[in-house]
This record gives sequence, C-alpha cells and structure tokens, in this order.
Amino acid sequence: MRLRHIPGSEEEIAASPYVIQNPSGRKGCWKDVFGNENPIEIEIGMGKGRFIMELAALHPNINYVGIERYPSVLLRGLQKRAELELNNIYFMCVDAKNLAEIYAPGEVEKIYLNFSDPWPKDRHEKRRLTSEDFMAVYNQILRPDGVVEFKTDNRGLFDYSLEAIPKAGWKIADYTYDLHHSEMGIGNVMTEYEEKFSSKGNPIYKLIACR
Ligand code: SAM
Repeated sequence: MRLRHIPGSEEEIAASPYVIQNPSGRKGCWKDVFGNENPIEIEIGMGKGRFIMELAALHPNINYVGIERYPSVLLRGLQKRAELELNNIYFMCVDAKNLAEIYAPGEVEKIYLNFSDPWPKDRHEKRRLTSEDFMAVYNQILRPDGVVEFKTDNRGLFDYSLEAIPKAGWKIADYTYDLHHSEMGIGNVMTEYEEKFSSKGNPIYKLIACR
C-alpha cells in the first residue's frame, strides 16, 4: 500500500502516544513498554491496522505491535486507534529489515505477515517479507517455539514462500490454498486487503512457519 505523502504525517506520528518512539532503545525491555510479562506478537506491514487492532481487542492478555514503514499509511491506523480503549497495542514506523536492532533474541512470540507486497521481479526478491534475508531477521527475534503466520491472495508470492522458507532453514508447519474454506480458517481475523480480495472471489492462501 503506497499512499501519496500526507503533509504533517511524520510530526503526527512523532507526537502520538500510540507510537513507540526510538524503538531500538526498547531492545530487551519490551515488557516495560507494556508493564507486564504477557507474550508479544507483531504484524509486519500492518497497513491501516484493522487486523492487529481486532486481535488486541480479542486477546487482552497478549501484547501487540503493529509495524508499518510508511508514515502516511500508519497515520490511517492512528486515527482508528484513538477510538479504542486498549492498553495492549502500540505501533512503530520502521522498516522490518531493522527488527533485530529493536528486539532482543526471543523477545517476540509470533509474527504476522498479511498480504505482503509481492515484489514479482527477480531482482526485488530480497524485498519480499518471506525471503531468506527477512526469515534470518525473524530467526533472531522469535522465541524458539515462535511462529510466522503468512496470508496472501498472491499465488506467485505464496508458492515462492513455500520454497524459500524451508531454504532459509524453517519448516512449514501447515498451509492451505483456501483459508476461508479450511479448518485453518476457524477464528480467522480478516485484514483490509483480505476483505477486498476475498469479496472479489480470490482464494486466500495461508502458511504457518516454525523452526
Ligand atoms: N497487512 C495489511 C492488509 O492485509 O490489509 C496491508 C497490506 S499492504 C499490501 C502491505 C504493507 O506492508 C504496506 O503498507 C507496506 O508499506 C508495508 N510494508 C512492506 N514492506 C515493509 C517493511 N519492510 N517494513 C514495514 N512495512 C512494510
């Protein structure tokens, strides 16, 4: 999702109580951010953040961090966040390639990747959020029993991920080519993109990766 730049978005994000400022200063201390020992789950590329805000409302005993690299996109999430009374969710405006500078080893329990940009050209492979380079970053920050959950409607990116993730030394614990008509879809929380594409009849693919 690439919105036109919204003037003032950086300033609004820098002043927001819902956005973690200087996130690398929190490395190893994320429990202090939330004031409890609850597990931490993150969504990389949250867009407008509907998915992660809904999860936070459903699971008050889990802490959530929504990550989005574009301020103009994150701003949309902030407007919605202000309407919610939740104390278990924050946002960060960072590129996911820097996550190992932000979380200590094992500080994250689960990573959600939803409708990640497909980057179909071969020369852009490293930008895909399921590439070997990104899986190596997740490997550094996830607990040993932690998982990555990935949903998309893009068959090319999904098939690529089913191959790339094992090459990066991970296992595919489960996957489906039709999430909304499979047992893996029980309790599924939809994202903005998921609603848009599934309403057009596109099947939704999902995989769960573990070490
Ligand atoms: N997850 C949302 C959904 O399913 O509705 C938004 C999907 S949108 C296609 C992908 C989002 O991921 C974009 O907003 C993009 O800016 C963000 N993104 C892509 N690469 C990223 C990265 N390396 N770090 C942080 N965010 C990233």
